[in-house]
Amino acid sequence: MIMEKKRVLITGAAGFLGSHLCDRFIREGYDVVGMDNLITGDLKNIEHLFKLKEFEFYHHDVSKFVHVPGRIDYILHFASPASPIDYLKIPIQTLKVGSLGTHNLLGFAKVKKARILVASTSEVYGDPTVHPQTEDYWGNVNPIGPRGVYDEAKRFQEAITMAYHTYHNLETRIVRIFNTYGPRMRLNDGRVLPAFIGQALRGEDLTVFGDGSQTRSFCYVDDLIEGIYRLLMSDYVYPVNVGNPQEITIREFGEEIIKLTGTKQQLITKPLPQDDPKQRKPDISRAIEILGWEPKVNREEGLRITYEYFKNLPPDELNKTAHRFA
Ligand code: UDP
Repeated sequence: MIMEKKRVLITGAAGFLGSHLCDRFIREGYDVVGMDNLITGDLKNIEHLFKLKEFEFYHHDVSKFVHVPGRIDYILHFASPASPIDYLKIPIQTLKVGSLGTHNLLGFAKVKKARILVASTSEVYGDPTVHPQTEDYWGNVNPIGPRGVYDEAKRFQEAITMAYHTYHNLETRIVRIFNTYGPRMRLNDGRVLPAFIGQALRGEDLTVFGDGSQTRSFCYVDDLIEGIYRLLMSDYVYPVNVGNPQEITIREFGEEIIKLTGTKQQLITKPLPQDDPKQRKPDISRAIEILGWEPKVNREEGLRITYEYFKNLPPDELNKTAHRFA
């Protein structure tokens, strides 16, 4: 008997994480339907897939009614602006994709009898008072601050996803993604890693916000994708943190980038943006226990690969700089 191929819908397919997910599911032998409205995504990230018969692309905004003909077995909802500079620029779309977009996709999953995994975020913990963050921490979010549009949309997303699970018996999964880096991040997305590497490559000083004592824990993209894949295939419906618990201050991180790139420039300070979390580090005990997953790529190796990617971008890309204070 010939087994029919499974078909997966990935929203935000042209984005950083979405495009890596498309690659992974193609590699695993799935038919992949990518969907993106291309507001923050870039077709360059998935250009190499268009020649494959296993790949289709819909240019569509998931905040509007979603329809794809034919079977869909899995849905991964990764459409959303995901960096502070983006959601400051497009706050309403950010709210809509996390709320209306998620609602549309849950309804679509119900019609297709598909399993859906939604991309949540460590931002649901806000500026956390519990450290490291465990999944049962409820968070410390300012709903009306600049990050509120993202944080609250993602919190609503988790609530409506659990509601569809409880009331409609939908097969749902929720991943809480911590800071992730790797090739295909947008050089001008304002996030700290592309900001620092871009500055080093252009011969500018590296802008540390505040005194740089705030911490983050950076996960290499391949590790993250593995964790997400395992979660989708598991039967666990509650949120799972996926991230790398190796914590570092932003100032130390800047120093690492200076060393990595060999730049002669230095760290300079800029004001700390409002509600910038002071510390962030995932407790990944649940992922270890339920998924048998933990990150494998250390920061030195991951940063080397990522730097190679940025170094080889065309020079005009490099000059497309976006600064939060521009
Ligand atoms: N940051 C910085 N310089 C930059 C960009 C970001 O010091 O040019 C800091 C930012 O204030 C935050 C951390 O780096 O404390 C991570 O910022 P990012 O935007 O990458 O992600 P976040 O975790 O804040 O969502």
